[in-house]
Amino acid sequence: MKILAYLETLDGALKKTAFETITAALTLAKQSGGSVVGLVIGSADTTQAGVYGLADCLVAKHALLEKQSTSAFAETIAQAAKAENADVVILPASSTGKEIAPRLAVKLEAGLAPDTVALDASGGNLVATRPVFAGKARLNVKITTAKKVATIRPNVFTAKKADAAATVTNRDFAPTLADNHVKATVTSVSRNTGKLDVAEADIIVSGGRGLKGPENFHLVESLAGTLGAAVGASRAVVDAGWRPHGEQVGQTGKTVSPTLYIAAGISGAIQHLAGMSSSKVIVAINKDKDAPIFQIADYGIVGDAFEVLPKLTEKVKSVVHR
Ligand code: FAD
Repeated sequence: MKILAYLETLDGALKKTAFETITAALTLAKQSGGSVVGLVIGSADTTQAGVYGLADCLVAKHALLEKQSTSAFAETIAQAAKAENADVVILPASSTGKEIAPRLAVKLEAGLAPDTVALDASGGNLVATRPVFAGKARLNVKITTAKKVATIRPNVFTAKKADAAATVTNRDFAPTLADNHVKATVTSVSRNTGKLDVAEADIIVSGGRGLKGPENFHLVESLAGTLGAAVGASRAVVDAGWRPHGEQVGQTGKTVSPTLYIAAGISGAIQHLAGMSSSKVIVAINKDKDAPIFQIADYGIVGDAFEVLPKLTEKVKSVVHR
């Protein structure tokens, strides 16, 4: 199989999802005896891609791409896939990847497997595993169309460095774009400067309605700051306007898979679990011993978050600064 890996960038550097996409694509190529070509849109330093084993990368440039329209991105990726005769296109299931993938699948007349947690090409076909019913069950989907598109859930396909780093050959790619490919223009981006993004963090401390109000989230922020963690939130607190949507974890928020996930004052509704149940170690702090979150927690603290969080922060500080 010839695989095209769409590599996301931010401020001219490859994002963590790019390395995960490379790893997933190279694994498929190895299983199917094929090859991988990367695709970056706009200017970016692709050197790091070589560390993860990618040797061949297209760099797409066009004035209209500067408008950051996902429909123009989809058109560009479709043209690149056709030019390279790619059988499979892999993208991250990030918010941008989720917008691009269905458009791309239509353009390529490809079957689409969204939000996959495993991909397998060892049997000659592409079989994708995807969680369904908010993570209650897993579905194995065989894509039977000639061209195939799959998005991979961030933080699930662990990026693997190559035994020997490859030297990346960048090839310019000039898509043919017209104004009608740009359906929307990004005019400004507001970013939580200095804050870690939950989707990429290795440790997350999340707060829920049990925190009682936005004024108490400093307890979550303090523990997160001490651990070098990102702050996450349940939908209840985001809907209430206590925290920004970018922090929401769950079915309608971000899917996370950190090494450590600490949930304070979060009940553990199925829609929240859908976004964090694949975390490696889960710690729950809840004053209700029957809260559903304890069913998936590796460590549970039955207690008042207002008492537990400061104590935990102090304890972590004493260990970290020892
Ligand atoms: P609650 O359910 O109110 O739980 C608060 C918890 O805090 C309770 O368990 C309580 O025992 C505990 N508590 C109270 N006081 C303290 C204290 N002092 N110390 C310790 N613990 C305390 N939710 C998401 O999170 N993410 C999603 O993406 C999402 N998507 C959804 C999509 C759909 C279509 C729907 C229908 C719902 C979605 N939800 C989502 C909402 C979800 O069903 C829950 O309503 C939400 O997760 C509850 O948030 P919570 O746990 O913070 O609040």
